[in-house]
Amino acid sequence: MDGLLYVLSGPSGVGKNTILSEVLAKRKDLTYSISATTRPPRGQEIDVVNYYFLSKEQFLAEIENDGFLEWAEIYGYYYGTPKQMVLDRLQKGEHVILDVDIQGAAQIKKNYPNAILIFLYPPSIEELKRRLLERKTDDQASIEKRLAYIDQELAAVSRYDYVVVNDRLDEACQRVESIINAEEVRVTRGYWKRLLCP
Ligand code: ADP
Ligand code: 5GP
Repeated sequence: MDGLLYVLSGPSGVGKNTILSEVLAKRKDLTYSISATTRPPRGQEIDVVNYYFLSKEQFLAEIENDGFLEWAEIYGYYYGTPKQMVLDRLQKGEHVILDVDIQGAAQIKKNYPNAILIFLYPPSIEELKRRLLERKTDDQASIEKRLAYIDQELAAVSRYDYVVVNDRLDEACQRVESIINAEEVRVTRGYWKRLLCP
């Protein structure tokens, strides 16, 4: 029986990575899909831990190979979800969570209608800007690119299944976990049958 595919999106700096690391520490049956990107590493980021850092040529070759579940050009770089690893894990019955932008989420929903889309929303634009600036990992040009997309990204919330406002971190983490728990026991997904004695 296939595992469930979760997608987490939200504007840069809203707290996706922070929430994912908390939730993943608790849910050992949930795997994070490491994306590929052509953007250079930022801060303490490590190849194969945070992203697969690829050259543009390598990324384009992967597109040609049909190696991505979805991919998009964002802030001047390419980002994509490696396909085989995600499909293998789902087939084994594991849940997978992706951190992708609004374009990637739309592609996933089109090709995998059962995917569960969660949008992380900031408590205010001012707080979002503050987080982006306080993170201190982005240069001025990349902060400006991210700020320019905020309105467009927030407007996409209507295409998602769930929205979680990341005001207090512990509450937002709990809400994301609640969504995962609830979707797991939706009768129509059939996943609940795993809970029965053999
Ligand atoms: P994203 O992955 O969405 O780009 P991050 O997880 O890197 O965002 O978070 C951006 C910054 O905001 C980080 O410095 C993080 O510690 C901080 N942050 C995340 N969630 C909260 C929160 N609920 N309250 C205050 N600061 C937060
Ligand atoms: P960042 O450069 O801040 O790590 O990420 C920038 C944007 O790229 C974020 O909106 C993030 O969700 C998105 N992103 C990260 N990985 C992927 C991916 O594999 N596919 C798509 N479509 N977006 C991604």
